[in-house]
Amino acid sequence: MKNLIQLNFLHILPLLLLGLSFGNVQKYNGLESPGSESEVYYSLEDFNLVKKFDHHIHINTDETVFIKQAQADNFQFLDIVDDRPFGLPMDEQQKFAILNLKNFPNRMAFATTFSVKEWNNKDWEENTISNLKRSFSKGAIAVKIWKNVGMDLRDESGNFVMVDNPRLDPILDYLAKHHIPLIGHNGEPRDCWLPLEEMTFSQGYYGAHPEYHMYLHPEYPSYEDQINARDNMLTKHPDLKFVGAHLGSLEWSLEELAKRLDKFPNMNVDLTRMSNLKLHTLNNRQKTRDLFIKYQDRLIYGTDRGVIASDNPAELKRNIHNGWLSDWRFYVSDDIIVLLGFGKLKGLKLPRSVVDKIYYKNAVKTLGFPELQ
Ligand SMILES: [Zn+2]
Repeated sequence: MKNLIQLNFLHILPLLLLGLSFGNVQKYNGLESPGSESEVYYSLEDFNLVKKFDHHIHINTDETVFIKQAQADNFQFLDIVDDRPFGLPMDEQQKFAILNLKNFPNRMAFATTFSVKEWNNKDWEENTISNLKRSFSKGAIAVKIWKNVGMDLRDESGNFVMVDNPRLDPILDYLAKHHIPLIGHNGEPRDCWLPLEEMTFSQGYYGAHPEYHMYLHPEYPSYEDQINARDNMLTKHPDLKFVGAHLGSLEWSLEELAKRLDKFPNMNVDLTRMSNLKLHTLNNRQKTRDLFIKYQDRLIYGTDRGVIASDNPAELKRNIHNGWLSDWRFYVSDDIIVLLGFGKLKGLKLPRSVVDKIYYKNAVKTLGFPELQ
């Protein structure tokens, strides 16, 4: 079987870099808007003063450079353990999460995950619930389900196992009953299923990796199959607190995202895939800003940063800080920002009350995590 899964970090990485590297500021208006709006706004200088939360981090080291920078930049964060077949195995990721949590209990929370290696074992459901309980007893407060369900895992007859598979129901019922959020990374960006010339951001990656380009592999589930399975799972579990990673895999369409947020009141999404958000803003700033204001209780800031041991801690600290600051600029100011290959856009300049929610309140509320005092 092709090892589809390796594309995850690799193909997210260029998107992240794009998001982090082109915050080219050409003007800055200061604290208050000169416009007619009576709203209050943050400034770039408020970055350090405002409590913030990054809901999508993967720490794969016991080095504390990232955590120290989070402290310096007034960030708490969620460290997410996932079940991917490359890089650090999930048990090792979790060991680091538990160690870091012990040393920085107010700074971070962690999301555990579960293995599907034994999927075809009849006791899988029961064993998975006991493994999850063990992780909760060690401090996990959320659970991640990854795209291997839907894109790689197969049952005994060789059929793909999708995220609405009934064998997941007892696990999701358990999470719903105990108010434990599920974070779902389902499928890939829609680009993955399009011909290269119709892609928005991923031509380079899929051009170089045809083995992961689903347009060339129609025997795999379609993009729609992934989204339908996720929606069906949410329909079956209306009480489940759910955070759709990467804009709920609906990065390409604000309308499709809004439809899901309307239909599933317990669905939130994280705001990774910043390049897509910038492109939406470039195409129609008003519409993008309206979406943020309408769904201000459902959007959660996150970066999907992977952290490994670094031989240049000073550079790592700088990258982390600059990345966070660049995103802050996009949300709080109307500075001109360049999206390379597409053009210039104006930052969203969201009202302070909205920034407080997407940058902090929504995350701590969904996770049930104590606010930093
Ligand atoms: Zn991730």
